[in-house]
Amino acid sequence: MRPLSYTRALDVDGAVAVVARQPDSAFLAGGTTEVDLIRLGVARPDLLVDINGLPLRQIEELPGGGLRLGAVARMSDVARSPLVKARYPAVSQALLLGASEQLRNMASMGGNLCQRTRCAYFRDNVSPCNKREPGSGCSALEGLNRGHAILGTSEHCIAAHPSDVAVAFAAFDAVVHTIGPRGTRTIGIDDFYLLPGDTPEREHPLEHGELIVSIDLPPLELARRSVYLKFRDRQSYEFALVSVAAAVEVRSGIVTEARLALGGVGTRPWRARRAETELRDGPATIEQFALAAAAELAPADVRRHNAFKTELAHRAIVRALTRAAEGAAR
Ligand code: SF4
Repeated sequence: MRPLSYTRALDVDGAVAVVARQPDSAFLAGGTTEVDLIRLGVARPDLLVDINGLPLRQIEELPGGGLRLGAVARMSDVARSPLVKARYPAVSQALLLGASEQLRNMASMGGNLCQRTRCAYFRDNVSPCNKREPGSGCSALEGLNRGHAILGTSEHCIAAHPSDVAVAFAAFDAVVHTIGPRGTRTIGIDDFYLLPGDTPEREHPLEHGELIVSIDLPPLELARRSVYLKFRDRQSYEFALVSVAAAVEVRSGIVTEARLALGGVGTRPWRARRAETELRDGPATIEQFALAAAAELAPADVRRHNAFKTELAHRAIVRALTRAAEGAAR
């Protein structure tokens, strides 16, 4: 058994200073993924700095109609917040469709954004895996890849990003605020998730010791009628094969604005910009939604076991857009 030290942080600056000082240390929030990975030997910190006591649990209104979510706010608290449900229902739905009630009561928003892939080869701590051990190879390329990504892949990694709520955040241009050894930073969600390329071990631009303190959801009127759909092998406590966050503005039968993001198919939460371009100023019809889905999925790079995801994603996009348009029609 490896020795592991534990300390409770009293303030944000102190937490950042302690982690920044010690190379093999890590922040501990809900621990719902991190403790699993430590038990499996995939994560090997020498010191955990518990940030659960920090004043980072707020859900507060921003000027103009946006919301600021504290990084240690629990998934269940955010999901059930009347402000979140009214302004960003897709965020609430995505949270409630993730994990289990017990896990949602523990898991933090910041931890959710930073959760690691569920690729079995990454977690078994034995198989070649470029994400866990750079340069060792990718067992999923020719292995069991049914749950893996079809968009944003590289020859070094095809792992799908597991978060649900990050998909809704991608659709709504959420912004991540951090405090690190070099001060504060604001990172747009597009820049927060890195494509695997030839460095799949690097998933986001955070430095060691840099702590997420909050996530902003900018004001967005059409998000009030947004939807989140999730398709998976069983109806609860399961990761997405495909998920869709969708919001549209429809006037006189024409889509004037669209937000669309996908989960389960991308190596990062996948903002569907090709589809959005196809939708804008076009008719709010199933035929047009199908064209948008086809445009987004045209570059799909499928493997032996996950080719079905292209058709499933196509259908999911059309269904989510149809539901969003029904709520938006004027
Ligand atoms: Fe590792 Fe990525 Fe390959 Fe999975 S898909 S084995 S995480 S390199």
